[in-house]
Amino acid sequence: MDERSLKKRLNRVTIVVILISILILAGGSVASYYLRAMLEDTLDAQMESEAEQYKINISRKIDGDFQTLHTLSSFLRHSQMSTENFLHAFNDSRQYNQFIRLGYFPKDGTGTRVTREAGIETGISLDDVDGNLRAVVENAWAGESGLSRIYELSDGSGSIYFYGVPVYTADGTVGALVAGVSTDSLAGILEDRSILTGRGYIHLISDTGRILVRAEDRVVEEELASIYEHGYIGPEEQQHIRKALEKGDVCRSEFTYMDETYRVFLEPMEVNGWYLFCVQTARSVNAGIYQLMVSTRIITVAVLLLIMAIILYGYRMIYQTNRRLIRSAWYDPLTGAYNMPRFEMEAARIIERTPEYSLAGLNVRQFKFINEIFGSRQADLLLRHIKDVVMSHIREGEVFCRSTDDMFFILLKDTDRDMIRARLVQMMEEISRHAVSNNRNYQIMLYCGVVIGTDVNDVRPSVQKSLTHVRFALATARQSLKNSIWFYDTALHEDEKLENYVESHMHQALEGEEFRMYLQPKADLETGQVCGAEALVRWIPSAGKMIYPGQFIPIFEKNGFCVNLDMYMVEKVCRQLRSWIDGGIKPVPLSVNQSKLLFYEADYTDRLKALLDRYKIPAELVTLEILEGLAMENIGELNEKILKLKEIGFQISLDDFGTGYSSLNTLASLRIDELKFDRGFLAAIREESGGWRQAIIMKQIIKIAKKLSIRTVTEGVETKENEELIRRLGCECAQGYYYSRPVSAQEFTETYMK
Ligand code: C2E
Ligand code: CA
Ligand code: CA
Repeated sequence: MDERSLKKRLNRVTIVVILISILILAGGSVASYYLRAMLEDTLDAQMESEAEQYKINISRKIDGDFQTLHTLSSFLRHSQMSTENFLHAFNDSRQYNQFIRLGYFPKDGTGTRVTREAGIETGISLDDVDGNLRAVVENAWAGESGLSRIYELSDGSGSIYFYGVPVYTADGTVGALVAGVSTDSLAGILEDRSILTGRGYIHLISDTGRILVRAEDRVVEEELASIYEHGYIGPEEQQHIRKALEKGDVCRSEFTYMDETYRVFLEPMEVNGWYLFCVQTARSVNAGIYQLMVSTRIITVAVLLLIMAIILYGYRMIYQTNRRLIRSAWYDPLTGAYNMPRFEMEAARIIERTPEYSLAGLNVRQFKFINEIFGSRQADLLLRHIKDVVMSHIREGEVFCRSTDDMFFILLKDTDRDMIRARLVQMMEEISRHAVSNNRNYQIMLYCGVVIGTDVNDVRPSVQKSLTHVRFALATARQSLKNSIWFYDTALHEDEKLENYVESHMHQALEGEEFRMYLQPKADLETGQVCGAEALVRWIPSAGKMIYPGQFIPIFEKNGFCVNLDMYMVEKVCRQLRSWIDGGIKPVPLSVNQSKLLFYEADYTDRLKALLDRYKIPAELVTLEILEGLAMENIGELNEKILKLKEIGFQISLDDFGTGYSSLNTLASLRIDELKFDRGFLAAIREESGGWRQAIIMKQIIKIAKKLSIRTVTEGVETKENEELIRRLGCECAQGYYYSRPVSAQEFTETYMK
């Protein structure tokens, strides 16, 4: 999994969590909405049925009042009592009935009435009474019973309404009996505390919205003459109510007062245009429930948010740890560049698709030196700088990494050599501008090995193969001081093929005796006689051309196979000496090359001794050639080994003298028998300028060697002049093509030993 897919996965989880939360919230909201609607519906229904009940109560009262008045009317007609006496009797019994006023208006004369305030009055003209009352009287004269509108009494003693019934004789209607009822009696009914089980109140209003009887138990504090006053009922609702009232329909509505909304129900009384105006205070009464519902909702949201936060936080944590894991798995912790596994993965995608790429390896010369001299902090800074520079030169679709130490690999999309070279040179120049430890004098040098995909036409190109090619080109670039960018080409390809062959065939070659001993004679410069020979290995594969040591010894030194080969060569040397001795030929001492690794093997001396014993060879006949480079490391240990070997009787020769950096001091302290000047010495002396200095040095070394009883041999003697030169310098022995190339043991025996 990489960072991208991790992010994708996290996003998916986040979306799912959000969706689930939204779903829960929506579900909750819908449920709570329905619950609320249900509650309201129930309350509305309750209000309506109760309103109906009150309507019935009021109608009953009105019917009752009419009944009473009718009874009084027939009593008045049938009894012999005068109207005045009748009213007196009524006045006396008033506390038993609800009529506060009673009057009789004959069609042909003035009326008589009884009021609480004035008692019985007679001679009342119809013109003097309130218009509402007059209408009732006139209706009754016309033979119709009726109710007046509610109106305020002029003396301010409250509001009143009148019933009117006709009074008949056999001739028809003769007058009207009217009775006034205080609205308080209606209020008594409406004031009932059990209205809507205490969760509402009812006003009596007219169809114009005028409030006729206002319940004491109400929410609106202000004095109101009409329900429309103060605009507690919104304009739209007012419109809606007005329309219904005009038609005499029932109507549902609501109004808001002090931030509370109240449900309203208007029930027509079907009398006088009266309406019951029912207000439900359930919501405020039920405020607790509503509050609970609201707080439940808030709590649900809060809990959901919390859960969401926790889940997201958890995922963030997982994301970050995963990211850290991915980072450590795919990135180089020092520079932040891709590491090798990641690079291989990314490069594989490109390489396996198209050969249109080039792969470069970039390395710093002397990085170890920078690390040791300037410190690891400076070295790290340099590596980060390299990463920055490479990063800034990389284009879309190209990748790079730091594999180990100072090794960077860059995959470019270019396939043109000049283009690649230009880009790499630019990078190298920019990297070189970095000052190590503010030291502008230290010049950072780099080298590159490059393989171009289109150059190798592999059947199955792979990152691994390309990397091997690059490493090969890099190794070549490292050796070349002039050319810091080396392209992998056919020649390198051959080298690489050979290296592969060497590594994969060395064991079977050793078994199959493909390694042959060649001998190169050493000449005694005083006598001109062959005074010995050096054993040099040749690899002659059963099929194919001879392979020279230069092509495989370095590889064997790297992979450790040298140890086996050298022992094998020592045995070959012993066998050769044995065969000469057995053949009655006086043997010459043979030299054999010993690699560094072998020299440090624990049982090295024992194994050598065992070989001498097996072939019964006097140790003096074998000269072990060790490399000058060995003396650089641990002189004490080396000398110990040398002494051990000398104890057995071996001759020790210091090979390739002059290529290392040993001083005369080391020379003096090493207990060697022979010194072999590298052929570089001769080459240096032959040079026009400064050659004489080299000669002087060589002459002095020979002088010292002589004093230390060390024999001197010069390698690479190719001409008569060479020979004369070294003779003049005092050298004792010579080896080189001038005398002979290395030849097979058989040829050597035939040429020199007979
Ligand atoms: P070396 O030990 O310095 O051996 C001398 C090399 O110089 C030989 O190369 C020889 O052929 C070459 N040579 C001799 N005379 C002349 C001359 O006049 N001019 C020039 N230009 N070269 C001359 P060779 O046989 O190719 O061996 C190369 C190196 O491989 C040897 O250098 C030695 O270091 C190593 N080597 C050879 N055989 C063995 C072996 O059995 N074991 C080990 N460890 N190394 C070996
Ligand atoms: Ca040698
Ligand atoms: Ca040599």
